[in-house]
Parts: sequence; C-alpha cells; structure tokens
Amino acid sequence: MTDAPIRFIDLGAQRARLEPGLSARISAVLAHGAFVLGPEVAALESALAEFCGAAHCVGVSSGTDALQIAMMAENIGPGDAVFLPAFTYTATAEVPLVLRATPVFVDVDPATFQIDLGHLRRRIEGVRARGDLRPRAVIGVDLFGQPADWPGLTAIAAEHDLFTLDDCAQSFGASLHGRRLGRAADATATSFFPSKPLGAYGDGGALFTQSAERAALYRSLRSHGEGETRYDVLRTGMNGRLDTLQAAVLLAKLEAFPAELERRAAIAARYDARLAGAVRVPARVPDSISAWAIYAILLPDRATRDAVQAGLRDRAVPCAIYYPRPLHRQPAYVDHHDGTSLPVAEDLAGRILALPIHPDLTDAQVDRVADAVLAALG
Ligand SMILES: *Cc1c(COP(=O)(O)O)cnc(C)c1O
Repeated sequence: MTDAPIRFIDLGAQRARLEPGLSARISAVLAHGAFVLGPEVAALESALAEFCGAAHCVGVSSGTDALQIAMMAENIGPGDAVFLPAFTYTATAEVPLVLRATPVFVDVDPATFQIDLGHLRRRIEGVRARGDLRPRAVIGVDLFGQPADWPGLTAIAAEHDLFTLDDCAQSFGASLHGRRLGRAADATATSFFPSKPLGAYGDGGALFTQSAERAALYRSLRSHGEGETRYDVLRTGMNGRLDTLQAAVLLAKLEAFPAELERRAAIAARYDARLAGAVRVPARVPDSISAWAIYAILLPDRATRDAVQAGLRDRAVPCAIYYPRPLHRQPAYVDHHDGTSLPVAEDLAGRILALPIHPDLTDAQVDRVADAVLAALG
C-alpha cells in the first residue's frame, strides 16, 4: 500500500469508492434521453441550494460561464472597472475582458493569499480620482478553498455601490462564520471542473443568489436570452447550460462530498503537523472551514522551491505551482494593467508550492509527501 503511486488528484480512486451509484445515475440519463436540462439538472440545483443555504441555484456550463452570466446580468461592459485579485486563475480576469470591461488588479494578503481589503480601497479611490472608468463590481475569489473576507468586501462594496461577485470555483463547500459560501455576495459562481473539490466528468458550473430576479435572468441568459418560450428572445444570451449527464454525476458525488471535505481537512492538519516546523504552512482565515482545493506551502525563495520540486520529482511525488505568474504579468493582460505594483502577488508566485490533497490520499501517502518535502529541504 505504501508503494501505491501518489496522484495529485485521484479521480480513479474516487470512482471506485462511489460505484455503483455513479454508473446508476449515468445509466438513468442514457435511458430517459433528456440530455439538455433533463430532470437531474433541477434536482441538482435544489440539492446544491439546500447544501449551501442559498435561495436559488442555476446550473451552467462552467465556472467561467457562471462568472460571465453573472456579469452579463448586471450589464457590465465598456467603461466599467471590475476589481479583482491579481493572484487567481485566469478566468477571473478573462470574463470582464470578454465583456469589454476593465479588470483592475488588486494585491493579496501575504498571510491568507486572499484579496487585500486595504489595497482594494486604494484601488477604488484611485479609479475614482482618475475618473476614466466607472467602479462597477468587485470579484472576490475564495482562493485555494478558503473564503475571502466577505463581511469586509461587502462593506466596501456598499460604500461604493459595487456589485459583489464571489468566484467560489475553488471553494464550494467552505464556510465563513458558520455559513457555507453561496450567499455571501450578490452572486456566487462555482465550477465543477473535474479537479475542483466537487468535480464533474467534464465542464460544469453553477450560480447562486438570494435574488429571484437575478436567478430568472441567469436562467434566461444560459439559454440564449429566452423568455417564456424558447422562441421569445428577450436579450442577448449564450448557450451556457449544465449538461444533464454532468448533473447526474454531481448528484452521485454530492452524497459523498461532506465526508470528502472532512477527509481533506484531516489531510491538511496532518501536513501541518509534519511540516509547520520547516516551511510556512497555510494560514487559516479566521472562523472559517476550508474546502481544501489546494494545500500550498511557502518556501523561503525560488531556489529552495526549485530544489523541493526536484526532490519531490525524484521521489515520484507530484506537486504543482498555483500560480507561477500573477495575472497582471500575463502577456494577455499586461496591456490592461495600469502598472501599479502588486508586490505580494509577485512574491508568492516565486515561492509557492502545492502538495497533493484529495480525499483518497491515505495517511501513509501524506507522510510520504511530507517526508519527501523534509528530505528535499535537507
Ligand atoms: C477553475 C476556476 C475558474 C473557472 O472554472 P471553469 O469551470 O474551469 O471554467 C474560475 N475561477 C477560479 C478561481 C478557478 O479556480
């Protein structure tokens, strides 16, 4: 058992654990044949809304499309400033740009890696002072499984009349102040990309909101802007629906999800216990429960990270870098950045390293990963 290969994400082991329930769900869809907006989509929407305590859930085609639909519903576009952290996945910045709005990159907190509220205030004031863009929205990203500071974010947004969008793609299942994410912002977008904590067998996503009007708009926008019937076109929308087959897979996986979240947390605690004396282990957001999409350690510098990466490779332990480059330094986005320096995001990119974390990792495997990190540090 201790020689079993360690995988960064192990969908095969999860599948073995969840069969025959998964195949039964998939077979039911093959039998009824309602591949687009079949009954599993509505069943999943109800189950997810109940799971996170949101009033409404709308299943969509991906996390990226969830962000896009939420912003289309607010008519965010040219001349609008959308504030977002520079240390996140590309989709967070891509969506405002696709809608021809302007992303305004904000630095992150050096301890929790979540959006820095002090810097957000300064960025909003800077845009106001320049006067060329309208501050319209803030996208808070719940990075690596932990929640952003939503009470702080919504207070700032209220002062400046900004729409709040929670990019919860990595953190569905996480809680802040005893409440699951899903109703912390005006809208919450999540992703069911296979490697996310709740992952499908292909692309998928969902939007959550407390507003019935917003939920109705999201349903219309995900189906070409349709109205009462499919041939009423009320607005420009998109083809952004969640597949019935993906909903079926997610219904099967949702049953196991609470136990999987607990297992992820136990693995994180075990890594902490083994590694806290040697590297910087993840700082916890106060009064929160992480979904542990990613367990990222911080090494003292780039050279040490290179050495640890090489040491892990030699011992057949997978690892990954999220993110090797902050978004304002990406070739596609550099011309959309106003040149403000974002030193924390830049520093993290050079020395962060993510270790394997998934619910089928055994304690012995966690120890092998930790031993490999410690050995590589010498
Ligand atoms: C994965 C991810 C997305 C995009 O989700 P997709 O389903 O792949 O489109 C958006 N934002 C963040 C922070 C992500 O990690």
